[in-house]
Amino acid sequence: MFKKILIANRGEIALRVIRACREMGIASVAVHSTADANSMHVRMADEAICIGPPSSTHSYLSVPSIISACEISGADAIHPGYGFLSENAEFVQVVEDHGIAFIGPSAEHIRMMGDKITAKDTMKALGVPCVPGSEGGVAHLQTAQTVADDIGYPVIIKATAGGGGRGMKLARNAAELETAFRTARAEAKAAFGNDEVYIEKYLGTPRHIEVQVFGDGRGNAVHLGERDCSLQRRHQKVLEEAPGPEIDAETRARIGETCAKAVADIGYRGAGTIEFLFENGEFFFIEMNTRLQVEHPVTEAIFGVDLVREQIRVAAGLPLSIAQDDLKVNGHAIEVRINAEKLPNFTPCPGRVNTYHAPGGLGVRMDSALYSGYTIPPYYDSLIAKLIVHGRDRPEALARLHRALGELIIDGVDTSVPLFHALLNEPAVLTGDYNIHWLEKFLETPA
Ligand code: ADP
Repeated sequence: MFKKILIANRGEIALRVIRACREMGIASVAVHSTADANSMHVRMADEAICIGPPSSTHSYLSVPSIISACEISGADAIHPGYGFLSENAEFVQVVEDHGIAFIGPSAEHIRMMGDKITAKDTMKALGVPCVPGSEGGVAHLQTAQTVADDIGYPVIIKATAGGGGRGMKLARNAAELETAFRTARAEAKAAFGNDEVYIEKYLGTPRHIEVQVFGDGRGNAVHLGERDCSLQRRHQKVLEEAPGPEIDAETRARIGETCAKAVADIGYRGAGTIEFLFENGEFFFIEMNTRLQVEHPVTEAIFGVDLVREQIRVAAGLPLSIAQDDLKVNGHAIEVRINAEKLPNFTPCPGRVNTYHAPGGLGVRMDSALYSGYTIPPYYDSLIAKLIVHGRDRPEALARLHRALGELIIDGVDTSVPLFHALLNEPAVLTGDYNIHWLEKFLETPA
């Protein structure tokens, strides 16, 4: 087992990894920018190393600085968290070339899934159901027209290098195709330096359902059910829950087994998420994320498994400590992402938190790096806390969420908490009857 793990991240996810390390008797090393010198992850880790100025490019994204910090501290492994370098295949290569273990999949698998056309081709070949669309990339408008006519409108043009919802354009009919095709390519070129695009059938009212998988890198894998992340604003998840309100045990077993088999077949190592759109009882693969996700705690809650511990174990070459037959869904969990943002426009709202008081009690988990007197820097993501509740069933989880939000105090900055209070009054949220467009429509409706 590793002796010391360096965490190439900040905020709540850095704390999350430090906690797993401590329970496993592994020393932790925090890295931080000058803007984060007073952060909780710096205080909580066994050691801390400053790796650069506030800008992420020169700190949390600086490969030479992170490798140096590893060598100085003598860490034998790196946990990347999510975001930053977590899905950067070149980084993984450099880490491994330095004889340091990367807690995550191989560079090859990250590269494979980072290119969405390759990812889709791979999944299709592995028997995972995909959204109907073009065979690979589409380079010419004429081909785009033929493909769109074939699959039928509406269609969506997507960048193979895409992420964060960028480089995606909808064409409702043939007249809209030319503009959609050209703008998608131009946006993709500007955002990712790669203008390759592909075409998919646009699904009208799907849910976003994702399956958590875990491989040992030697051909064994399990699935840990699904999460429903349909409540999104601008393709950003806002509230996630597990299990999916519309997914029954038989459906879960069926799609879960397909996903587990797919990652087992490629010899995948570590945590991964296979994302689907789900419409009329059918799953359509859209992408795979090769890292731990922000919303992983809802899965941990219903299965009682520490996913970070499992990541560390398989990275160290140990077998999975969980067998498929032992993984049983227990109750229902919901996570809300609390951002430092001012409503109604969701403008980032960094600044000093005068008072912070976290909710507690049965079935409540608060993952946050906040403390009273902390100043949220303006340079990074606006996520400041994740509140996760767990109940015996969905109504109990909702009641617990309502109760916990009422106890939470974050005084000094605006947060997205009022949105969750509002959502808890909505019949669609209370019954779980929503799709990926529901939240956008809700936010457009004046109160
Ligand atoms: P990104 O990597 O940029 O997040 P995804 O492929 O994961 O891109 O898609 C992000 C979101 O875009 C999905 O959650 C869904 O809301 C929407 N979307 C993507 N593909 C389709 C599709 N074929 N039909 C309808 N909506 C889609």
